[in-house]
Amino acid sequence: MAAACIFCKIIRGEIPSMKIFESDKTFAFLDIGPLSKGHSLIIPKHHGAKLHDIPDEQLSEILAVTKKIAIAQDIQDYNILQNNGRIAHQVVDHVHFHLIPKPNDEEGLG
Ligand code: 5GP
Ligand code: ZN
Repeated sequence: MAAACIFCKIIRGEIPSMKIFESDKTFAFLDIGPLSKGHSLIIPKHHGAKLHDIPDEQLSEILAVTKKIAIAQDIQDYNILQNNGRIAHQVVDHVHFHLIPKPNDEEGLG
């Protein structure tokens, strides 16, 4: 855990979030600036800025949880996105996987 990290604060409940899932290793919540309805973020509880900072045993659960959320929310078409570093458009320096539903046009946010 990193004291000043906003995603660590979300895990600790110090910043409110719309929680979707939590286990001992993983936390998932709705993105505050969704690209589509249901855009969620799946994160390891272990703090690390980039993928290579996260232990394998933490990472292995992330994909299973992402799949579980897609099935539970009946998301049929979606993108999974994971940015590492500023040049790659990473803004929050705590590893996170975006699960971005791709709805029909009429269901999108415009
Ligand atoms: P990145 O560009 O780093 O891959 O994406 C960071 C994501 O975190 C963005 O989609 C942004 O909307 C989301 N985000 C940033 N701050 C917060 C927050 O305080 N709460 C939630 N739920 N999402 C956040
Ligand atoms: Zn963190």
